Amino acid sequence: APQPLIAGNWKMNGLSASVAEAKAVAAGLGQTPARVAICPPSILIHRLADALKGTPVLVGGQDHHWDDAGAFTGDISAEMLADAGAKLAILGHSERRAGYRETDEVVAQKVSAALRAGLEPIVCVGETLEQRQAGDTLAVVTGQTRGSLPADLRGKAFAVAYEPVWAIGTGLTPTLEQIEEVHKAIRATLVEQFAEEGRKVPILYGGSVKPGNAAEILHAAEVGGALVGGASLKAEDFLGIIRAL
Ligand code: 13P
Repeated sequence: APQPLIAGNWKMNGLSASVAEAKAVAAGLGQTPARVAICPPSILIHRLADALKGTPVLVGGQDHHWDDAGAFTGDISAEMLADAGAKLAILGHSERRAGYRETDEVVAQKVSAALRAGLEPIVCVGETLEQRQAGDTLAVVTGQTRGSLPADLRGKAFAVAYEPVWAIGTGLTPTLEQIEEVHKAIRATLVEQFAEEGRKVPILYGGSVKPGNAAEILHAAEVGGALVGGASLKAEDFLGIIRAL
């Protein structure tokens, strides 16, 4: 099985004072089989990377442009994230797909840009409530997986995160059976695209993961870690999730 990855997505939360929470995660980590990452707003990456130097906690970005450089006012490149100390990048989060109209094609181009910069992409997929109710979950999720993962991922480290849109920030979570069904479908798609290499890709679950539900979710079939939003903002909660592994 792939080494588990537990990543915190701070989204647009956190100020310079939040560096203390990241430091507390590193201080409280102890022995864990997981790789642990925190993905703060890009302006905090440099500070977190400095603060976490010499600890096993990795720093990641939440998004970046698909091009390497150029006239893109307000945007940042994958290379800039890497230069600031990021090792990973969350790409294709549903908040970017829905709020910034990112298509699978755009996400795939961003994944390629991440690889050029040496970042490890965490590629997010997930269905809306309407899509689940219409019985389209597996078609949507496997379609997004196929469309968002470019062929140049071959031989590279990356992760996929299954985040049902309706479970994000709502306190709702799918049943373990629903999580396992989707994760197995994503695994099959990865094997179809990347052959045996596809078995080594961790498939994270994201959406209302908390210390109280982390153990059962993290031990479900084909769950290779978690992508944690709200509960990653407080070191105590995030550590509770990591310790559930
Ligand atoms: P919550 O953990 O706040 O539901 O957010 C999940 C998420 O979107 C992580 O990327």
